[in-house]
Amino acid sequence: MPARPEPRLRVLVVANQKGGVGKTTTAINLGTALAAVGERVLLIDSDPQGNASTGLGVARAQRKTTLYDVLMGERTVLEAVVKTSVPGLDLAPSDPDLSGVEMELVQDARRSFKLRDALEPLRDGPYTYVLIDCPPSLNLLTVNAMAAADAVLVPLQCEFFALEGLTQLMRTIELVRASLNPKLEIQGIVLTMFDRRNSLSEQVGSDVRSHFGETVYQTVIPRNVRVSEAPSFGKPALVYDLKCAGSQAYLRLAREVVLRERDRRRVAAA
Ligand code: ADP
Ligand code: MG
Repeated sequence: MPARPEPRLRVLVVANQKGGVGKTTTAINLGTALAAVGERVLLIDSDPQGNASTGLGVARAQRKTTLYDVLMGERTVLEAVVKTSVPGLDLAPSDPDLSGVEMELVQDARRSFKLRDALEPLRDGPYTYVLIDCPPSLNLLTVNAMAAADAVLVPLQCEFFALEGLTQLMRTIELVRASLNPKLEIQGIVLTMFDRRNSLSEQVGSDVRSHFGETVYQTVIPRNVRVSEAPSFGKPALVYDLKCAGSQAYLRLAREVVLRERDRRRVAAA
């Protein structure tokens, strides 16, 4: 009897406990780029600030059912899904209530598995990628995301102390593997807001590559003003200005992500 085919869905968590390093920008634009190459993508906004929801043009009034309702077990994830202006990219929006989840679930023995349980029905379609945008901390929302994910994608801004932050994140991933999700992999580390004219960017970038080798994607996301303007128009950079250097970099990143998944499947099948 042939082995059961590996499920097509990959759940990637975009995580870094530092704020302002490009998590949300990466979730939105990688999601858009994956959809552009034919993947079916669900972006889950797991930050109470809701920047991914706003950046995709989903206003507060449109967020009838949110991730809060899903984590509290009151709605299914498919009930929370809204379409975005990007064909193939859907969103499970967040709202400020999400910040209360930690307190509300404090007595719940399965509190770390709420998202994993909620995503279970998606294993049979329709999506091929779920991207989870995390808040800038290692709190219960991030733990839920890591417990639900197949792999972590780490955006890293090349600034002073970047490596220290990365070491702390790697330790958290180890803890999650040891306790909640032994299969959690690292999809890769992407250098964001990279400025070639800044010698610190170059220095930190080469330090990160020498520590983490092939884990670091070849693609580097440059600092690009078009990328930072796009969210205020409620559009991904790829829709706002496809030709800009930032959008082109996110397209290359999507290609690398897909190739890594293909290689992984090949190894798993052998
Ligand atoms: P995080 O989600 O990690 O807090 P964001 O994705 O919100 O980080 O990015 C922080 C800020 O930096 C935002 O204002 C965003 O528009 C800006 N930004 C992100 N990536 C780039 C880039 N490649 N070039 C210029 N600005 C960027
Ligand atoms: Mg964010």
